[in-house]
Amino acid sequence: MKRMRTDFMILTADTSQMDDELKCTSLDTRDKFTWRFTPDGSYSASSAYRLQFVGSVQTAFVQLIWKPWATPRCRLFAWLFVQNRLMTADRLLARGWPNGYFCPLCMRSLETATHLFIECPFSRQVWAGVAIIATAPSLAPSSWGNHHRSIDWMAGLSEGLPSLEASRVRSWTLLVLWHLWLERNARVFIASLSPVRSLLARITDEAAAWDLAGAKISVARE
Ligand SMILES: [Zn+2]
Repeated sequence: MKRMRTDFMILTADTSQMDDELKCTSLDTRDKFTWRFTPDGSYSASSAYRLQFVGSVQTAFVQLIWKPWATPRCRLFAWLFVQNRLMTADRLLARGWPNGYFCPLCMRSLETATHLFIECPFSRQVWAGVAIIATAPSLAPSSWGNHHRSIDWMAGLSEGLPSLEASRVRSWTLLVLWHLWLERNARVFIASLSPVRSLLARITDEAAAWDLAGAKISVARE
């Protein structure tokens, strides 16, 4: 009962304040609709389109993975790689699942995604070879900086390049990542081992096939 009386007092106070405010309000002017997402308050389709992205988080995935020319499987694979979702030995080990521990490409270090694609001496020879084949110096490990995250490493490969050339280098990156993984799987699952030279030949062949399909990745672009 006491509670109801308190609520009633608050309601009375609120309506009396509303009454005061209404007395100062003129009803002579007509209501007007305004669109608060443009400076002049008028609606535009472009402002409504931009509104959809308010609050969204920008990632580099679009520029580095989804936009460059590549086959869907290469894109999906790179997306898993940059999020450390590949079933490499370190992740199998953490789950207590069977694993070979060592990187199958060099047999020297624990297999992690970062080691496999960026640090491994075998992979670095492949990247160096591809840098020459593709006329893309930024793919050579000698030009790489230190990056803690694989997505930053990927971004660094095409950093500062003109748009078309950056896109071409990104396509090559997706292609090489995929072929390094295929070589890794061949060694793990069917004990088939290819030297750097053979792997480079396979990458070159697939690059030519991509070109036939419209990728335009063989020739450097301004
Ligand atoms: Zn290795």
